[in-house]
Amino acid sequence: MRTICYDRILFIALRSKNVMVNTMSNAENEKEVVIVGAGPAGLTCSIYLARSGLVPVVFTGDVPGGQLIKTDVIENFPGFHEVSGNDLMMKMMSQAESLGAKFIYERVDSISRDDNHFRLKLNSGTEVDSRTVLIATGATHKKIGCPGEEEFTNKGVSWCATCDGPLLKENKRVAVVGGGNTALMEALFLSKFASKVFLIHRRSALRADKIMQDRLFRNDKIEVIWNSEIVGILGDNFLKSILLMNSIDKSESRLDVSGLFIAIGTVPVSSFVQNLVDTDEDGYIKAANTLTSCNGMFAAGDVVSGSLKQAVFAAGNGALAAKQIDEYLWMRLS
Ligand SMILES: Cc1cc2nc3c(=O)[nH]c(=O)nc-3n(C[C@H](O)[C@H](O)[C@H](O)COP(=O)(O)OP(=O)(O)OC[C@H]3O[C@@H](n4cnc5c(N)ncnc54)[C@H](O)[C@@H]3O)c2cc1C
Repeated sequence: MRTICYDRILFIALRSKNVMVNTMSNAENEKEVVIVGAGPAGLTCSIYLARSGLVPVVFTGDVPGGQLIKTDVIENFPGFHEVSGNDLMMKMMSQAESLGAKFIYERVDSISRDDNHFRLKLNSGTEVDSRTVLIATGATHKKIGCPGEEEFTNKGVSWCATCDGPLLKENKRVAVVGGGNTALMEALFLSKFASKVFLIHRRSALRADKIMQDRLFRNDKIEVIWNSEIVGILGDNFLKSILLMNSIDKSESRLDVSGLFIAIGTVPVSSFVQNLVDTDEDGYIKAANTLTSCNGMFAAGDVVSGSLKQAVFAAGNGALAAKQIDEYLWMRLS
């Protein structure tokens, strides 16, 4: 037991001095751990790794702070009654930096692997080698692509009922677009706050599980508008109505709502590692906890198949990744 503790202290001391030992390559550019993504998952992982004596290098990509920086108010992150997404993420970044994490404001374009290490190619053309890599690149929500969608994002248009639904004043009319389980869950959740919820679906049948459909059809506040697509989003400073087009007879109608929740799916940011790891049919990375099918590559947060697409989950997952990365490096040393 004592020996293990001593070895561990030695290991931390060596790596904190950036000393390369035995099995490790002495390439100057090689890192022990690189984190791709600076959202809650990547930043939490960097905080834990920095506190364990490593020097994690975080590639932030185009959006340091991740999806949350666009969110005005977050009410479900423990410890904060209300916090702006930008404030929360800047706090996480500053905490990670003060503990020793290094930030590089570049995007990783591709990753290759040989027996001992990963080689990451950055958008600047620079190449960086690392023994371990965490993929924490999140996911992006599919967009409708109609006029007004960009303009009214966060002004009535949202991709997260759990996040923004409770912020609605009571007795508002809202719409959800989509026909899968997520859309139905969003509609059912919103029915707690809204006076009326319209579920807009482009087909004549829902894709969601039967149990979800039963719940939906039992709910008096929810009305399904079948065979309809959103072709425009209108308002002044805030969303006021949406334009619908019937996909059968092509007629157009206007529906007044104060909130529109888009639930037509998400797209993981994983295409640049699909040559290395197993993914599900939608491209989300399959991971056992955070271990991927590729030795030395870990994944956490929204990019992981089946993960709860919420900040607190991504943060917890990032902490778990740190533990598993640390164990992986430790096993390689011993
Ligand atoms: C509008 C909105 C409101 C939300 N509100 C809430 C809320 O109130 N509460 C809540 O819990 N959750 C909320 N969510 C969900 C929450 O934002 C996500 O679950 C969480 O951000 C996922 O964290 P992540 O670290 O996995 O990924 P992300 O936050 O998506 O971060 C991904 C990071 O990866 C980087 N990246 C991507 N590709 C590359 C690349 N090739 N190279 C380098 N870096 C790359 C990005 O720049 C970014 O820094 C909201 C989401 C949205 C869109």
